Amino acid sequence: MSESRATPLLGVDDASRARAVEILRTGGLVAFPTETVYGLGADATSPRAVARIYAAKGRPSFNPLIAHVADLSAARREARLGARALRLAEAFWPGPLTLVAPAALEGSVCELARAGLASVALRIPAHPAALALLRAFGGPLAAPSANVSGHVSPVTAAHVAEDLAGRVDLILDGGRARAGLESTIVSFLGDTPALLRPGAIAREEIEAVLGTRLGEARGDVVAPGMTSAHYAPRARLRLDAQWLEPGEAGLDFGGALGDDGLVLDLSPGGDLIEAAANLFAYLRELDAHGAARVAVAPIPAHGLGEAIRDRLRRAAS
Ligand code: AMP
Ligand code: MG
Repeated sequence: MSESRATPLLGVDDASRARAVEILRTGGLVAFPTETVYGLGADATSPRAVARIYAAKGRPSFNPLIAHVADLSAARREARLGARALRLAEAFWPGPLTLVAPAALEGSVCELARAGLASVALRIPAHPAALALLRAFGGPLAAPSANVSGHVSPVTAAHVAEDLAGRVDLILDGGRARAGLESTIVSFLGDTPALLRPGAIAREEIEAVLGTRLGEARGDVVAPGMTSAHYAPRARLRLDAQWLEPGEAGLDFGGALGDDGLVLDLSPGGDLIEAAANLFAYLRELDAHGAARVAVAPIPAHGLGEAIRDRLRRAAS
């Protein structure tokens, strides 16, 4: 049933894990089992690797991804976890609880994985194969569910193969995922902890540990572009520009705008994955140069171009 076009599907053992680590270190994609659903993993510190996740899933926008880590000290390197967050971590990790907290200044989860937000979502999965992979890899793995955008989340390796064979580099088969439900997400960005997404751990269990009620998710998080915490460039963007007006800097794609003045090319070769990987860094760089107005070259609307265009539209408004 797994006619995996060019994607090997391997059981979990030392050899397949070593191969997975090698793929992840070189920016590749590995689907792996967790206790919730199968995850589509990539090096969370590499915008290029994370761009491949969005491309493989066919996501029309860059929503923030959960970064999976091996232990609490790794989590504390990535986020500023306060006393209440740490209490939940102690009670439920490893397990199907995701904590959203302000990203640490020295954190390594890249901006594309955070969809430009100043916060980061973290969890330690309770699955031996996932934990062994995280330990062997030695860094955070961004891992949304291993399905094509809009499809249901996969609970077996065969489900993953049906959606993603040929689009990922390796599928690790660890049997059926136990929960089949996504992780519960709790945000620590507001004054009180808030339930961002119900999931495999019940609200009541979390409230019992906290000793307070969870608030409702407000505008503080969820979708990028709907929060003041996400990165909005200071520069005014002019989209689908055919040329540079006098005084404009440029955000180019495929060399369309030329190189007169301050022009950063998201991908001189016209590669949308490369463009996605460079997007947030280049917007910041243009701001750092003090560009007040930026002409943005047309980005094709197919593949990752849809998410890039979505992000640019939000940045322009
Ligand atoms: P999933 O689709 O299971 O990977 O879960 C991703 C969801 O986690 C997002 O849609 C957000 O609701 C939440 N999330 C992930 N990262 C962040 C973040 N940095 N800040 C706020 N919410 C986040
Ligand atoms: Mg999903």
